[in-house]
Amino acid sequence: MTDLTSMTIAEAKAGLANKSFTSLELTDAHLAAIEAARSLNAFILETPDHARAMARAIDARIAKGEGGPLAGIPLGIKDLFATKDVRTTACSKILGNFVPPYESTVTSQLWRDGAVMLGKLNNDEFAMGSSNETSRFGPVVNPWRREGSNTSLVPGGSSGGSASAVAAQLCMGATATDTGGSIRQPAAFTATVGVKPTYGRCSRWGIVAFASSLDQAGPIARTVRDSAILMRSMAGHDPKDTTSVDRAVPDYEAAIGKSVKGMKIGIPKEYRLDGMPAEIEKLWSEGAAWLKAAGAELVEVSLPHTKYALPAYYIVAPAEASSNLARYDGVRYGLRVPGRSIGELYENTRAEGFGDEVRRRVMIGTYVLSAGYYDAYYLRAQKVRTLIKKDFEDCFAKGVNAILTPATPSAAFGVGEKGADPVEMYLNDIFTVTVNMAGLPGIAVPAGKDAQGLPLGLQLIGRPFDEETLFSLGEVVEQAAGRFTPPRWW
Ligand code: GLN
Repeated sequence: MTDLTSMTIAEAKAGLANKSFTSLELTDAHLAAIEAARSLNAFILETPDHARAMARAIDARIAKGEGGPLAGIPLGIKDLFATKDVRTTACSKILGNFVPPYESTVTSQLWRDGAVMLGKLNNDEFAMGSSNETSRFGPVVNPWRREGSNTSLVPGGSSGGSASAVAAQLCMGATATDTGGSIRQPAAFTATVGVKPTYGRCSRWGIVAFASSLDQAGPIARTVRDSAILMRSMAGHDPKDTTSVDRAVPDYEAAIGKSVKGMKIGIPKEYRLDGMPAEIEKLWSEGAAWLKAAGAELVEVSLPHTKYALPAYYIVAPAEASSNLARYDGVRYGLRVPGRSIGELYENTRAEGFGDEVRRRVMIGTYVLSAGYYDAYYLRAQKVRTLIKKDFEDCFAKGVNAILTPATPSAAFGVGEKGADPVEMYLNDIFTVTVNMAGLPGIAVPAGKDAQGLPLGLQLIGRPFDEETLFSLGEVVEQAAGRFTPPRWW
């Protein structure tokens, strides 16, 4: 069993192709691993019957030589993705036991390519959070622990279930979404690889909307190659999402192993924060040295509007969220708490259905969009957003191929340790939100450990639609740093 769950997707594809095992055996091994890891709370819905039926069907296709690029590979799906006939709640009480009558475009492409769904993964409510503690299903536990300690740590968020499940070998890869860092930050906290594609690269259709101008789907996997394999199936134009871009999807896996010689890598001086832990600083220089040894050229760059990114994000994202979440009124779907009038029904449903963090965002969003404050907050934040985007454009215009930064300002923290002050939680995204504000692709790759033995990640930021360069560079980091697996205690 252990062998079947510790393989990479690339290895499993080879094993399935040469008939060393079947998809049903691979699926059963993962279902058993999920059952044995319920204490991590990564899966909020296990779909074993569905998984076995999919695996049997794909085994029959493989036998006929029909497969597909993900034939027989068992995956986990973040609960933000609508899955036909399978409960989808965005981990919010307000969606009740909503069962979508349709499938998200991204997941339908995974099934088209032969993948098997093991179940739905935990996340922060409506993907709002950085620790997976705002979920209606309770927090997810990180399979990593500080050396010599049994304190439960968060896996990061909002894609905490995806990151924890992939790191703990409960699934071979997972879908995730990233609005301000929700793929890259949990990947960094769990020693997994997370890719936030260029805005428009993956369809948002059928994904519960948080902040529509920032949201992007992407994979979390155990290696750079596996994340490239998943990306190829997840990406693509979709006429149902007008922001998805009609551009051919490259063979991302072919970018792995390509020479990075002569590439210009920007090191942004504004990311060197006051009080940044020495370990993060060290990791960052180590990463730069690895890229240099592989033939890349390092250049210092300036992204002068970085300091405004977080405040601007916390205006734009809640504004869009307050508008997107207006649809949850107790009338059309999900939870309904009755009242004496329709107004009271709305109020009761929303008061009961939304958690504290979601309510905070709805209130902030409503405020910054209200007449009288719109110009001072929302419009201003949009202008700042344009300047942030321009910072990156200026940098790329000077020939920079990609930018190297730390992924997070610290390693994973304890469950319940942060969050009394919401801003403390928001600061987790300091290195990641700029990328969403500018619509760029970013990858987080495991790069080392802190003094307590916890994983740390590096982030590479790319030019629009140049995910391939990120895969090439990411693999250089991976080769140099090695891979990290949490010792099993659950
Ligand atoms: N942590 C950020 C937030 O709470 C980003 C979340 C995300 O990317 N979905 O908004």
